Amino acid sequence: MTWSFPIGRLLGSELRVHVTFFLLIAWVGLSAYDSGGAFGAAWNILFVLALFACVVAHEFGHALMARRYGIRTPDITLLPIGGLARLERMPEKPGEEIAVALAGPAVNVVIFALLFLLGARIGPDTLSGVESLSSGFWSRLALVNLFLAVFNMIPAFPMDGGRVFRAVLSLWMDRAMATRVAALTGQGLAIALGFYGLSAGSPVMVLIAVFVFFAAGAESQDVAMRAVSRRLVARDAMITSFETLTPEDTLNSAAQAVIRTTQHEFPVVDTTGALLGFVTRAGLFAALAGDQPRTTPASSVMERNIPRVALTAKLDTVLAALHEGAPAVAVCASNGIMLGYITRENVGELMVIRGR
Ligand SMILES: [Zn+2]
Repeated sequence: MTWSFPIGRLLGSELRVHVTFFLLIAWVGLSAYDSGGAFGAAWNILFVLALFACVVAHEFGHALMARRYGIRTPDITLLPIGGLARLERMPEKPGEEIAVALAGPAVNVVIFALLFLLGARIGPDTLSGVESLSSGFWSRLALVNLFLAVFNMIPAFPMDGGRVFRAVLSLWMDRAMATRVAALTGQGLAIALGFYGLSAGSPVMVLIAVFVFFAAGAESQDVAMRAVSRRLVARDAMITSFETLTPEDTLNSAAQAVIRTTQHEFPVVDTTGALLGFVTRAGLFAALAGDQPRTTPASSVMERNIPRVALTAKLDTVLAALHEGAPAVAVCASNGIMLGYITRENVGELMVIRGR
C-alpha cells in the first residue's frame, strides 16, 4: 500500500487515496472535456467526487459498526474501483459479521432514500442525461447509490453479500469451508461476468470481473491460512537447516553466503548462539550497490528488530509478526539461543503441504 497517501483523519480512521484514483479523475475529466467542454469536465469530476464521498460513507458504515464490537479501523483507502476499509480484524461471530457487512450497503440505501425525498428520480433515461446537468446530477447520484447497495449485496466474495453468505453458511459448516463456498461462488460469478463483458465489448466489466476473481481467491486463501495457523505452532514451520553469520563476517563473506546457499536472510549469532539480528539479501545488495568497502562488517546492515517466539508459540502470532513487515521471526529457547526461524516463504510452503 505504498502507492497511497493520507489526506486526513475522519472519525478515528486515516483516509488514504491511492495514486491511481487521480488517473480516474483525469480520465473522467478529459473524456468529458472532449464532449462537453470545460464546464462538462468540471461537472463530471464533481460527480465522481460526490460518488466517492458516498463510497467513503459506505466504508464508514462498516467501520462504525465494527467499532461497536470493539474493532478499530486504522485506515480507509480510496481506489478507482471503490473503497477499502482495513479493519483490525474481522468479527468471527456470525451475527456480528453480518451486522458489519450490512452496515456498508445500508448507508447507500439511506443516501438513496434521502436523495429520493429531495426530489431525485430514477428512470430508464437517468444515466443518459449527462447533458441535462443540474437536474441529472442528483438523480444519477441516487441511481449509483442504489447500484452500490445492490452490487455489494451479491452473495459472493469479495462483495459484502459474500460475508453475509459466509456467516449464514457457517451456521452449518466450519468457517474455512463456508469461506471456500462463498469464494467459489464469487469466482464463478466473475467468470460469467468476464464472458458477458467480453461479448458485450465492455473492458470495464472485464476489469471488474478480473478484480472479483482474484479478490475472492485471496479471501479464501487468507481464511484457510488462518485456520491452519491456529492448529500449528512455531516448531512445525521453522527452518532448522541454515547458515549463520558471525558479527565479524564482512559484506564480502555475506555475499558469498548468498551465492552459496538459497537463503534470502541470514541470522547473525554470537559465539553463544544468541541471535543479534538478520542480514537480508535485499539489505546486503543495497549496501553492495552503495560505495561501502566490502570489508565492512555485515552486521552494519543487519536488522536488529527481529520478533522472537518460543517453540510452542501459535503460528498465527508468527504470521501477525510477519504481516507487520519483519523479514523473519526467530524461534528461540528460553535461554535466548536461536533454534530456527520462520519466513513468509516457508509458511507458504507449509500451507501448501498441510493446508488441505
Ligand atoms: Zn462494503
